[in-house]
Amino acid sequence: MQAHPVLLNRATTLYRLGIQAFQPILVEGRTTFQPVLVEGRAICLHPLVCKGFNADFDGDQMAVHVPLSLEAQVEARLLMFSHMNLLSLAIGDPISVPMQDMLIGLYVLMSGNHLGMRGLMSDPQGQMIDLPIQSNLREGLSLTEYITSCYRARKGVVDTAVRTSDAGYLTRILVEVVQHIVVHRTDCGIAPGIFVSPRNGMMPERIFSQTLIGRVLADDIYMGSRCIATRNQDIGIGLVNRFITFRAQPISIRTPFTCRSTCWICRLCYDRSPTHGDRVELGEAVGIIAGQSIGEPGTQLTLRTFHTGGVFTGGTAEHVRTPSNGKIKFNEDLVLPTRTRHGHPAFLCSIELYVTIESEDYIM
Ligand SMILES: [Zn+2]
Repeated sequence: MQAHPVLLNRATTLYRLGIQAFQPILVEGRTTFQPVLVEGRAICLHPLVCKGFNADFDGDQMAVHVPLSLEAQVEARLLMFSHMNLLSLAIGDPISVPMQDMLIGLYVLMSGNHLGMRGLMSDPQGQMIDLPIQSNLREGLSLTEYITSCYRARKGVVDTAVRTSDAGYLTRILVEVVQHIVVHRTDCGIAPGIFVSPRNGMMPERIFSQTLIGRVLADDIYMGSRCIATRNQDIGIGLVNRFITFRAQPISIRTPFTCRSTCWICRLCYDRSPTHGDRVELGEAVGIIAGQSIGEPGTQLTLRTFHTGGVFTGGTAEHVRTPSNGKIKFNEDLVLPTRTRHGHPAFLCSIELYVTIESEDYIM
């Protein structure tokens, strides 16, 4: 295993950071980005890579893959090593930041025994239980406190399991739609862009900067008679600051929305990749990155619809089965067509609705 890279994969692999490459070392107790091989079936992994995997230390499991061919080893070393994946693909923020166990560890070290109580819990009907849990998990709960708190703990596990499958489904559908879109050319030559206005009073400065930085100008920019920036010039922080200070007219930028082809994207319309902050490379599968970037945080996005319960979720609604085969009939004026969260056609009805099943045998 020495000097041989390994791939670690944690389910659900909703995006690229779900699989990363590491160089395993056999020395125990070293704190590096590399996983350490130890006695038993455990992998020691640096806490900073956990956010990318969405992992914590409560028994998470990972699959280990060993790339055998030379090409696979080179790809693992050049593209998949964890230290080459430090920024989020979606927004470019650092992905290697202390969180969860690292923060709790620091907190416990600093606060000693003064940990707070767990607080108020809710019962299965969603009502608040009057008696708060005064102990914390470190000093231990009484039997009553444990019973009151375990409902929420169990519900959390079930919710997460249900939502994980939804997020996986959402990601699959999104990726299926856009997977063919890759960076195919350097310049599609398209003339029109979209306009961004610095001083229309609606857009705060922060959003204005975020919108412009990492894009390419679609037109020359003049200040009076002097040209201060030219078409196809990359917009950096310096240029944005000059726009904010001196210019009131809208600024035309190139975006993937206006790129000439709907089947591919050019480098200038896409410009900077959040992964490394430089102009995107030819051949980059930006469609898949876009689909995964929306699908991966889908675990959080589906939370709200799940909690509303009932008709909207489709999955938790009570099923009624007819005792015989037949044709279902109801007043179609009283229902609205909709879809379940799995995309199946459904009807939504806000008032009491009578449904009849007509079959050849008998009518109920
Ligand atoms: Zn283009």
